[in-house]
Amino acid sequence: MSFQIETFPVYPLGCNCSILYLENQKEAIVIDPGGEGDKIYDKLQKKGYEISYILHTHAHFDHCLSSETLRDRAIGSTLCMHKGDLPLFQNLKIQCQAFGVPFHEAFTYKVDKFLEDEEVISSKIQNFGVKVIHTPGHTPGSICFLVSDSEKQILFSGDTLFSGSIGRTDLWGGDSDLIIKSIETRIFTLESETIVVPGHGEFTNVQREKKTNPFF
Ligand SMILES: [Zn+2]
Ligand SMILES: [Zn+2]
Repeated sequence: MSFQIETFPVYPLGCNCSILYLENQKEAIVIDPGGEGDKIYDKLQKKGYEISYILHTHAHFDHCLSSETLRDRAIGSTLCMHKGDLPLFQNLKIQCQAFGVPFHEAFTYKVDKFLEDEEVISSKIQNFGVKVIHTPGHTPGSICFLVSDSEKQILFSGDTLFSGSIGRTDLWGGDSDLIIKSIETRIFTLESETIVVPGHGEFTNVQREKKTNPFF
C-alpha cells in the first residue's frame, strides 16, 4: 500500500501540517492541522478525500488550534493524541493568551482516542498503518508517527527533532534529559535512510541528524 505526503506550514506559528494521501480509497490522514482546519477540510473535500484520522504530535496550540473545527466538519474522523498531553490540550486557551493568539471559546477539548506507545493506528478502510512512538521531553505526551511503503520510510517527529536542532524544553512539562534520551533510543535507532519531517522547518533524515546534529 503506497501513500503520498504533502507538508506545508500553517497559521499561527508556521507548524508543519502533513497530509497522508492513501490514494486507493481516497482516504486522508492529517497530522498537526494547526489553525487551518477549515482550509484543510475544503482542500481535501475538493480532491474527494475523506479524513479518517486527525493526529497530533503534541498539544501545543500551534499544532492543534483548529483540530476540533476539522474533526467536526470531517464527519467520522477521529481526533487523536497521547494522554500525557491532555493537560496541555485542556489549557489551550491559556497557551493562546500567552502568545496573543485569538481563541474560540466554543472549544470542547474532546479527544476521541488516546494513543499509546508502539500502537499502530490502522486505516479504517484499507491495509495501512501509522506507528506511534512515544518520545517525551518537549512535552510529556510528545509522540512521533512512523509510516512506510516499499519505497520509503517517513517519521513525523513533531517538535522533538528538527533539522540540526531539537525541541525546546523550557515550556510546561518539558524535560531536557528526557528529550535527548527519547531521540537517542527511539529515533536514532530507526533505519538511517528514514526521512524526518519535523514540526517546523525543513525535512532531514536519521543519518544526517546522527552525524551532524550539535545536540549529540
Ligand atoms: Zn511544541
Ligand atoms: Zn511547534
